[in-house]
Amino acid sequence: MLESNSLNRRQFVQLGTLAAGAALLTERASAEATVTAPALPKLPYAYDALEPHFDARTMEIHHSKHHAAYIKGLTEALQTMPQRESLPWTHHVSNLTSIADGPIRTALRNHGGGHWNHTFFWETLAPAAQSGAPSEKLSAAIVSAFGSMDAFKKAFGEAATKRFGSGWAWLILQDGKLKITSTPNQDNPLMKGIVPDADLGKPILGLDVWEHAYYLHYQNRRADFITAWWNVVNWAEVSKRFEAKS
Ligand code: MN
Repeated sequence: MLESNSLNRRQFVQLGTLAAGAALLTERASAEATVTAPALPKLPYAYDALEPHFDARTMEIHHSKHHAAYIKGLTEALQTMPQRESLPWTHHVSNLTSIADGPIRTALRNHGGGHWNHTFFWETLAPAAQSGAPSEKLSAAIVSAFGSMDAFKKAFGEAATKRFGSGWAWLILQDGKLKITSTPNQDNPLMKGIVPDADLGKPILGLDVWEHAYYLHYQNRRADFITAWWNVVNWAEVSKRFEAKS
């Protein structure tokens, strides 16, 4: 009886140790999966939900092919980095200059930027019926910075139109003030040491002006695409980002 009890106790302790070990492994695997593994986000609307402003075919290719390609490139770059398990991929996008200049940094800049920018872009879009309007606080800040909502849209449209080749136009919060900027390729306002300091800040709103974002429907008419985009801006999400502390 005593022996049996003592065996049971030992078995119990062994089982407990195994369980704790397994739990630790599971926790670690799940932390890696949620913190560092880049994955294609599911869109919060159907591909055809932004019609007629953004056509379904463009949305499908943009999300399932272009965005997916950035994730593939980012994943491959991360696999070459020994420290990848301890840092989320988003860390690398805002700390590119801590990585030696070379092909890994370039891949993280292009593909990490691409993944970040597109994830942000999808979240700040909504079907036209749900586009809404800027919150009172955001409206007031826009009027204070640009004079009026129309003046803001005009200035943003000019930044998006004038971006030569591929890139993005941004509304950022810089030192507490709203500012319009633009970046080439998949650069973004978080890339310290990569984009000029004048273009660094917290992204509030962003527009993809790569041809892949509009060419099927709008061909060379980027200005028409920009005008149409205002109909599908998710102002609730944009306002939330503006009002968030960080
Ligand atoms: Mn794109």
